[in-house]
Amino acid sequence: MNKKSILNNIVLPIGDRISRQSVMKYYRLYSEMQWWPHLKLQEYQNNLFVKTINEAYLQVPFYRDLYDKSNIDMRKIKSLSDIGRLPILTKDMIRKNYPDKIVNKNRKSNIELFTSGSTGKPLSVRLDMETISAARALMLLRANFSGWEIGQPYLQTGMTLNRGWIRYAKDLLLGVHYVSAFDLTDDKIDLYLKIIKKHKLKYIMGYASSLYLIAKRAISNNSGIELKGAVSWGDNLFAQYRKVIENAFQCRVTDTYGCGEGIQIAAECEYGNYHIFMPHVHVEFLYENKNYTDEVGEILVTRLNAGAMPFIRYRIGDIGKKSHDSICKCGRSLNHFKSIEGRDSDIIVTPNGNNLIVHFFTGIFEYEKTVDTFQVVQNEIDSIDVKIVPMKGFTESIWEKIRNEIHTKGDPSLEINLEIVQSIPLEKSNKRRFVISRLNNNEKI
Ligand SMILES: [Zn+2]
Repeated sequence: MNKKSILNNIVLPIGDRISRQSVMKYYRLYSEMQWWPHLKLQEYQNNLFVKTINEAYLQVPFYRDLYDKSNIDMRKIKSLSDIGRLPILTKDMIRKNYPDKIVNKNRKSNIELFTSGSTGKPLSVRLDMETISAARALMLLRANFSGWEIGQPYLQTGMTLNRGWIRYAKDLLLGVHYVSAFDLTDDKIDLYLKIIKKHKLKYIMGYASSLYLIAKRAISNNSGIELKGAVSWGDNLFAQYRKVIENAFQCRVTDTYGCGEGIQIAAECEYGNYHIFMPHVHVEFLYENKNYTDEVGEILVTRLNAGAMPFIRYRIGDIGKKSHDSICKCGRSLNHFKSIEGRDSDIIVTPNGNNLIVHFFTGIFEYEKTVDTFQVVQNEIDSIDVKIVPMKGFTESIWEKIRNEIHTKGDPSLEINLEIVQSIPLEKSNKRRFVISRLNNNEKI
């Protein structure tokens, strides 16, 4: 037996038993299912969906009230093609009904998660072992999309270094070199690069912005590190992040998509499509209320396991772009979409009614070599403030060019103010936000 199969078949299943999880069971199932015929996957989804909504209706007072009020006849919801009849779940609804009405008291809650979300208002979520196991299995599967296999050592950035003894033991066995994503000073990053070299690591995983910063440093150090893959999650992988990471490490970046509520949603394959983890989650694109163009819509997710707290048509607050082709060359039959376009509160609405997404601005700024970082803040409908950390060579005429481009491509009637700053602080969550709209901080219901 080689190391991979010893881990797969002996060590990790024992770990599951000790921690009362079933990660490996789900991992094996989901690994296989990604290649299932599409129809079979849909059938599997439909069965889980009907089970999920009925469990929610029968055992969770919030859903019973909501569906009764909306006159939903549960017998008529027979498959995912009927999902549009069900009302949408918002974060405010969760906050108002948590925990008494929205947690299923018949299921054991093992973990309470706190997530800050895009508006900064905290949200609590309960998860049971079954859903935790499924999500953790998908964390392994998402990394497989980069070519990584269980047992291959890698460097991972994360929020907390205190991982508990079970995870510590797993890290040790799996060869995970876990470093803090909060500590990204040059000195610390140099240390991380040293770890990669010393242990001859071939993969790096973690928050997109942290991978970007490590990559940037690797370039300026002429580190010469070559990796086989990078896996990003947590925040948006902007085009310039991807370029820098790929240049620094001479490898492909596999972006993945999940949410702070503990749901793993999709991972990007070698053809650049984000494949949805269909056995675990159903994804919808919603075009209501906004005039997004080019098949960009709000993302709704339904976790296909009711768990301790069901998520049915949950408005996650992200915007995504649909894919045009239905079949992906990689051979996975999982549905896919083209990209994540940012968060709801990361969209500038102009006086003419145009919606400027994050990529609108990164598309302009990525060609400006004299701009180190930027941030666009909107406090009023008719104006935006553009903060710029300039580099050597930044001039008034470069700013004029940028401003013209925003006017021409975006909206000529938008007032644009420049603010030169020394630095732009990261968010509390250690994420970099390029675009902040303070126009509509109240969530839509
Ligand atoms: Zn694919």
